[in-house]
Amino acid sequence: MSLTVVGSIAFDAVKTPFGERERMLGGAAVHFSLAASFFTEVRPVGPVGEDFGAEQFEVLERRGILTDDIERVDGGKSFFWRGRYDYDLNVAHTEDTQLGVFAEFEPKLSEQSRGADTLFLANIQPDLQRQVRAQCRQARLSGLDSMNLWIETAKESLLAAIAEIDCLVVNDAEIRQLTGEPNLARAARAVMDMGPRAVIAKQGEYGAALFTESGFFALPGFPLEDVRDPTGAGDSFAGGFVGYIDSQDGDLDEASLRRAMGYGTVLASFNVERFGTERVAELTREEIEERFAQLHAMTSFEPLPARAE
Ligand code: AMP
Repeated sequence: MSLTVVGSIAFDAVKTPFGERERMLGGAAVHFSLAASFFTEVRPVGPVGEDFGAEQFEVLERRGILTDDIERVDGGKSFFWRGRYDYDLNVAHTEDTQLGVFAEFEPKLSEQSRGADTLFLANIQPDLQRQVRAQCRQARLSGLDSMNLWIETAKESLLAAIAEIDCLVVNDAEIRQLTGEPNLARAARAVMDMGPRAVIAKQGEYGAALFTESGFFALPGFPLEDVRDPTGAGDSFAGGFVGYIDSQDGDLDEASLRRAMGYGTVLASFNVERFGTERVAELTREEIEERFAQLHAMTSFEPLPARAE
């Protein structure tokens, strides 16, 4: 089992009704890697600037994440995102995005990264996602996330990237925007017609829905009374989901997919309890299993007993 992920590796400035941080470790590949590290060996790929120091590398390395393919660019600045959430924590308002070293990035993966069993193209410019996909030809399973910015500014390359992967993991509003189809089931079908075998629609605090050729499954978000910062929840979901699938040899059978939905939901729920990576960075596998069992208990129900004739 091994998992390579490309995506933003960033500093985030975030304000929610429950607090703010001016500069915290973030980025789609970072949140994804931390979540996936509970299940498999993870290698994030991407550049960072001189501002990315030992403290940030340590957060990743403490979770056993292999950081050799994170390239530190002399004189460069890391990807930076500034966002704000109002009381509806499902909607992020982007105030600033600075690509920094990602603007000039030309991915050259190490042999180990290229040889990964599973590949995840986390949120970043879709041409970069495609360049990484092209280098990981042997991956038995590949997934992709994106966002409205890339649908609006690079739709053609995003569609080409989607045609090359097995599993699309995006917000439900983005599936609608991408396909121009307001009905989610039809939109998911339209995505599967482009190539992917599975489509996961993330629905913020309401949970996530899974569409495949043979079926449908959905889980609610894990109910929490204290939510501080949703930044990275979607990436943590994807990390839990894909990390678990990789640990099952990439098997996309219905039972594994449903369990993966459970792990995605659990990782996302821990993510939002504190700011940025604060909670997931110190999480344990025991806490994950405990919440997974609670989620299972609260989402299963018995059919009516068979009536005697
Ligand atoms: P989410 O899981 O959707 O909350 O993702 C939040 C993370 O995405 C933050 O840590 C940001 O650094 C990162 N991010 C925000 N905008 C972009 C973008 N345009 N491209 C790549 N990553 C981004």
